[in-house]
Amino acid sequence: TPPPGPEGAPSTPRLVPGACFSRVRPTPLRQPRLVALSEPTLALLGLGPPPDDAAARQAREAEAALFFSGNALLPGAEPAAHCYCGHQFGQFAGQLGDGAAMYLGEVCTAAGERWELQLKGAGPTPFSRQADGRKVLRSSIREFLCSEAMFHLGIPTTRAGACVTSQSTVERDVFYDGNPKQEPCAVVLRVAPTFLSCADAWKPRPSRFGSFEIFKPADERTGRAGPSVGRNEIRVQMLDYVVGTFYPEIQAAHAGDSVQRNAAFFREVTRRTARMVAEWQCVGFCHGVLNTDNMSIVGLTIDYGPFGFLDRYDPDHVCNASDNAGRYTYRKQPEVCKWNLRKLAEALEPELPLALAEAILAEEYDAEFRRHYLHKMRSKLGLVQTEQEEDAVLVARLLETMQLTGADFTNTFCLLSSFPVEPEAPGQADVLTALTAQCASLEELRLAFRPQMDPRQLSMMLMLAQSNPQLFALLGSQANITKELERVEQQSRLEQLSPAELLSTNKDHWAAWLQEYRVRLEKDREGAGDTGTWQAERVRTMHASNPKYVLRNYIAHNAIEAAENGDFSEVRRVLKLLETPYHRDGEAPEVPDAAEPEGAAGGQRSYSSRPPLWAAELCVT
Ligand code: AMP
Ligand code: MG
Ligand code: MG
Repeated sequence: TPPPGPEGAPSTPRLVPGACFSRVRPTPLRQPRLVALSEPTLALLGLGPPPDDAAARQAREAEAALFFSGNALLPGAEPAAHCYCGHQFGQFAGQLGDGAAMYLGEVCTAAGERWELQLKGAGPTPFSRQADGRKVLRSSIREFLCSEAMFHLGIPTTRAGACVTSQSTVERDVFYDGNPKQEPCAVVLRVAPTFLSCADAWKPRPSRFGSFEIFKPADERTGRAGPSVGRNEIRVQMLDYVVGTFYPEIQAAHAGDSVQRNAAFFREVTRRTARMVAEWQCVGFCHGVLNTDNMSIVGLTIDYGPFGFLDRYDPDHVCNASDNAGRYTYRKQPEVCKWNLRKLAEALEPELPLALAEAILAEEYDAEFRRHYLHKMRSKLGLVQTEQEEDAVLVARLLETMQLTGADFTNTFCLLSSFPVEPEAPGQADVLTALTAQCASLEELRLAFRPQMDPRQLSMMLMLAQSNPQLFALLGSQANITKELERVEQQSRLEQLSPAELLSTNKDHWAAWLQEYRVRLEKDREGAGDTGTWQAERVRTMHASNPKYVLRNYIAHNAIEAAENGDFSEVRRVLKLLETPYHRDGEAPEVPDAAEPEGAAGGQRSYSSRPPLWAAELCVT
């Protein structure tokens, strides 16, 4: 599409057939103000470090606010919005595209790297549909912090360089309760090897599974087609670009045979995706919106919206308040990513026979996921010496124990590195006590399992399930009802339990699992030469594999609350903390701090503790 005129007409939301991108212009914000910069990300672009002098630092922040809000354009920037489609919550959704994001251009560094810049929240584009192209401070801080947190956890991800807020506001209905409120507009500078690129020529350059889906013929169920249906030449060009640029070794190996090349490309995307989701499972990360347009073609975690890290281990945790059917629970993520890969295969079909792609998926995905997941889990448990058949069962039993006892996912793993292997070592009892102490209290469980439906509503839904299963399925009620029935059952169980009984049952569960763990550790030690070296290696590996800090909702919430009141110091403090998630203070045993007293929502807590009770009420959309 042509460059925008002075009125910005090209940004008018519309269907854009036959295009992969449209030129756009950021819409300026009122009084942009820097919330925080991520220095490691800016360093990738050759920017930094921050000057020591306070006045110079302030000037740098003002400049960052100007450029990274989109109020001023970086020299050479040619903003564009990328057109893509996607399957949202299982349905083909037609044209989506960058509705709130703008590509600025790429930075080629002295180190020979290439980074694409993108502003998220810089105003409407042709792909904004009914929405305003803005992002609010709350969601921008979450995306900014989590992008960086994931990188420092060692998980493939897009990066974030800056978060800028402003005096402009937009209306958002935070709780979908019909009481919208005005929230400050903010912008995040995202950085990645690819969002979409157009360095010299306006060539189509994709980044997502959905980038290939715009050529899709009409969906059988919805009747929807991508706006560029049948544009085979663009799809071929895109594929050539993606493989040539991001998978040059595959391009080189199969230069003369496009089907083989495309097969190798799909195999590699499959493997990367399997590894990425295995990494998520190992840190308890729930993405929340695993639609195909949020799946990266280079295997990065992309689009941080209503994500969440598990606190109390619950495999059926739904982190996105608008995921009514529970499609994207923690447990389902690996399966969903595989489903998404199948959608990519369907979109690639003319260039890669579907049967071949399906065979690759069947051959690679589960095996690669399992291999990577088990490898990581072994490291998390400090099984450094040998690999045993029964390790998968040990891990499954650990998760089961966590679920039964309401243990904290992150802290459980941290505590295990203090577990001594000697049969009668006194430290064993300490770890058992600490593990039991960090399980959810009766009060917390009662809160977590409080029924959410009126009993009459529940019985009506159950009747509907019996009399009209199709309508029931259409309403997506299955997951809600199952969860509600579980809540009712849990609630009556919890009512009959005393705190002492809960503690004692939890202790029994943990003692049983620790016994299995000890037996397994002994096998490992036997396989090692020197016990001292083995023990040191075990602890080192565990510390390097089990983060002490993840971006829990309550941590983000505290930082957001302060920032909404004009104080950005908490965002900056949390960012620093998340830059070294594996850091351990000295060699002291890892005993997380006790939960903070009810009501306290800030202060100098250490953030390695399990969340306070009020955090159970947090709702993210
Ligand atoms: P997501 O669920 O964040 O992946 O977004 C789905 C689609 O909605 C994408 O095409 C986004 O670009 C678009 N979108 C999300 N938020 C906004 C917004 N505030 N304004 C316009 N488009 C948006
Ligand atoms: Mg998205
Ligand atoms: Mg999003």
